[in-house]
Amino acid sequence: MELRVTGLSKTYGNGVKALDNVSLIVPQGMYGLLGQNGAGKSTLMRTIATLQEADSGDVHLGDTDVLKDKEGVRRQLGYLPQDFGVYPRISAADMLDHLALLKGLANGKQRKEVVEAMLNRVNLFQHRKKALSSFSGGMRQRFGIAQALIGNPKLLIVDEPTAGLDPGERNRFYNLLAEVGENVIVILSTHIVEDVMELCRKMAIIHQGRVLYEGAPDDAVNSLEGRIWERRIPKAEAAAYGERHKVISSKMVAGQPLIHVFAEQAPEDGFTPAKPDLEDVFFSKIAGLN
Ligand code: ADP
Repeated sequence: MELRVTGLSKTYGNGVKALDNVSLIVPQGMYGLLGQNGAGKSTLMRTIATLQEADSGDVHLGDTDVLKDKEGVRRQLGYLPQDFGVYPRISAADMLDHLALLKGLANGKQRKEVVEAMLNRVNLFQHRKKALSSFSGGMRQRFGIAQALIGNPKLLIVDEPTAGLDPGERNRFYNLLAEVGENVIVILSTHIVEDVMELCRKMAIIHQGRVLYEGAPDDAVNSLEGRIWERRIPKAEAAAYGERHKVISSKMVAGQPLIHVFAEQAPEDGFTPAKPDLEDVFFSKIAGLN
């Protein structure tokens, strides 16, 4: 099964064109939707999750027409929104039990089994009796995945899930998502390049409501081979380099800017070839260079 988005457009009442003729093919596994804040990711996620309407276009999950058959989609969907609600003082186990009941699991014994298996899966079993309001950021996100997976969805949407997690929590969350991605379609929306690099075999870059790239992260990185150059520069000369070259990124290394420049040949003395990475892809696509 795959998710197909075709020609999806949405303009908000204030005139912002959040989606501009977006087309994507999302196969089973982890799919990264990479874009800066304001790119249109949440609008796209919410439309696929049947929470808001598009102006035009078509979305199909397998044979289900997502924009018309909302109930049909909701039965197959798990969603972890960007701001995952309030965290009540009830325990993780009680909350999952309640959600499983809402999903139609009427048999109490069966429900207990499902809830305990889910708590084990997201590594929260030992915390099952603790109030959700006392959970750390990482525990909340893992609980968010658990609630989204109750009911065995075929499509899981996670919107900016790693923001605010410390490196250890992020790693645990990556491992969990990678495991989930073996069986379902997972769309991971993020502005963090590392999320996509670590997890996704296929991705799209979205910018100002438009898809600038869709394909394998590796292919995009390989296409930049020989076209990214780097140099450490004095801080005071950053602006001058920006005028002379197509600078796609600048980061501080040991207190000094290291710039990456897009060019078909060595830009000038002092530049060395850089091994391209997904960040170079992202910034050069957004700058319209490649
Ligand atoms: P992302 O999730 O990538 O940050 P969004 O889909 O939230 O992007 O937003 C895309 C654009 O649409 C932004 O310019 C944002 O300000 C605008 N936008 C989002 N929601 C609304 C809304 N309800 N009304 C008006 N503009 C909106």
